[in-house]
Amino acid sequence: EAVEAVPDQAARDRYSVLVDLIQKYRVAYYNEDAPLASDAEFDLLYSELEKLEALHPELVTNDSPTQVVGGDVSVAFAAVDHVARMYSLEDVFSLEELEAWLVRAAASVEKRGGQPPQWLTELKIDGLAVNLLYRDGVLVRAATRGDGTTGEDITHNVATIKDIPQKLSGTNFPSEVEIRGEVFIASKDFAELNEKMVAAGKAPFANPRNSAAGSLRQKDPAETAKRPLSMFVHGIGAREGLSTASQSETYALLKEWGMPISPYFKVVSTLAEVMDFIAYYGEHRHDLIHEIDGIVVKVDDLATQRELGHTSRVPRWSVAYKYPPEEVHTKLLDIQVQV
Ligand code: NAD
Repeated sequence: EAVEAVPDQAARDRYSVLVDLIQKYRVAYYNEDAPLASDAEFDLLYSELEKLEALHPELVTNDSPTQVVGGDVSVAFAAVDHVARMYSLEDVFSLEELEAWLVRAAASVEKRGGQPPQWLTELKIDGLAVNLLYRDGVLVRAATRGDGTTGEDITHNVATIKDIPQKLSGTNFPSEVEIRGEVFIASKDFAELNEKMVAAGKAPFANPRNSAAGSLRQKDPAETAKRPLSMFVHGIGAREGLSTASQSETYALLKEWGMPISPYFKVVSTLAEVMDFIAYYGEHRHDLIHEIDGIVVKVDDLATQRELGHTSRVPRWSVAYKYPPEEVHTKLLDIQVQV
């Protein structure tokens, strides 16, 4: 049986260094849209923190970065509570870890008497999450994820995004539904936007994720309107009365309502098919409409999702596989990059 090591002073010191650094990086990334580190550097620190906590569980506090959804509410925006809580995603960084995760999740489903799960495989879009609240088919509020419970009210900014309908088509929608998705800047639009920035004598954006986040979190919606923002749906929150049985079926319904659904997702039933999906998009990741930083695998069945539930930070029915970081060779490297 594993013996927990008593944390010595060196472990405690390292722990507080890691927590402080991760908090600082999170504030820069989520609140200022201006990261101080690369995602790979951040992920490495985060993994180190997870390992340290596994070794010394008594160090873990309720507000540890491993226990909470990252992101606060900036004073520039009104704070709004989500109807249903929003979560982050559990990350894995190798195919072995992914396989172990899928096998464990399938075993957990079967232990509860369920059928072997169907997996919804999707792209992990490198943008930022928004939560859209529709009442009687009308968009009444849009918010950032924030800390998962409370987000920033960005309704007026979202109103400028053409992909997002102000009114749902059809009539078969529940009186209240939360539709979640990723707002992003398409690769082609990002290149054009940066050309314009440079031509205007301004510093180009470092990457599409930061430019999407920065563009959406403008104080003046007229500024947001100038930015080429797009969105794809990847989830639902509050959905009282929605009768669909699976997430993929829900996507089909959302498409009928006029919501933007990704053309890239696929429902599969075997581990080999999940791995094929990952290999395919690993090879074609630069041929897509938008940037990705990995693949998301979800249990497709909604009743099973409810059964598996969540931790304080992530759903237990979904996992994100992150591709290894790659060297970036763009024209941008030749000019001064600012974020
Ligand atoms: P995450 O970005 O790893 O995963 C959760 C998010 O993925 C969701 O909230 C959603 O917005 C998004 N997503 C994209 N496609 C999705 C899909 N198909 N289905 C569901 N969700 C999808 O988690 P996080 O907690 O937001 O952030 C952690 C990550 O952010 C880190 O791994 C790191 O890469 C990056 N980060 C970087 C820095 C930095 O300093 N560079 C700081 C903080 C966070």
